[in-house]
Amino acid sequence: MSKVFVITGPSGVGKGTLISKLLERVPDLELSVSATTRQPREGEVNGRDYHFLTAEEFDERIEQGDFLEFATYSGNLYGTMRTEVERRLSEGHSVVLEIEVQGARQVRAAMRESVQVFIAPPAPGVLRQRLNARGTDAPHAIDARLEVAAQELAAQDEFAYRVVNDDLAQAADELERIVRVELGLPLDSPQ
Ligand code: ADP
Ligand code: 5GP
Repeated sequence: MSKVFVITGPSGVGKGTLISKLLERVPDLELSVSATTRQPREGEVNGRDYHFLTAEEFDERIEQGDFLEFATYSGNLYGTMRTEVERRLSEGHSVVLEIEVQGARQVRAAMRESVQVFIAPPAPGVLRQRLNARGTDAPHAIDARLEVAAQELAAQDEFAYRVVNDDLAQAADELERIVRVELGLPLDSPQ
């Protein structure tokens, strides 16, 4: 059976890193490509990393009811287009959404059967270190992300699963295990 997996957690916690490992390890799992009004970072490709839209284009899609969920995060709009999820499910794939907490709540309300995972840091201070080390955001943008992170961390108990990303290998194993159990797949990875 195909399922929708919502992976959330504060910026810099390691969602993207853990999801890329998950996609390598679990067959038939696909990542939904979100839409955003944020500017592309160096190396990001339109249609692969995000569908980069203008604010006008995004608003038009909101009006057309194209989004399964959308939210404003740190001054930009982000959203999951229904077609991204529906096409993959109809092809028999399970779908991973990497989204922030407000969007995760909307998906929970719309799809009660979605599997919701919160990725938590071992300590709040780790987020700044990781965002600095990633080097993709200006200092003021990092400060803004950390402000949002405090609210996101306060919401973690809402989630059915919580994975602490301290040791990366261990967290990746834990996330893989959750997904395999939910999909009824064998726990021994083929690798
Ligand atoms: P997110 O997608 O949640 O914003 P990323 O996956 O981009 O976070 O990770 C943020 C930074 O932290 C990246 O530079 C990544 O390599 C690093 N990172 C991820 N997991 C760990 C970990 N367990 N220990 C140390 N650094 C990590
Ligand atoms: P970033 O700018 O770092 O790519 O993403 C910022 C935040 O927006 C992250 O928490 C990320 O998970 C979230 N995000 C990405 N795509 C979506 C989406 O489609 N919907 C929602 N609600 N959040 C998203």
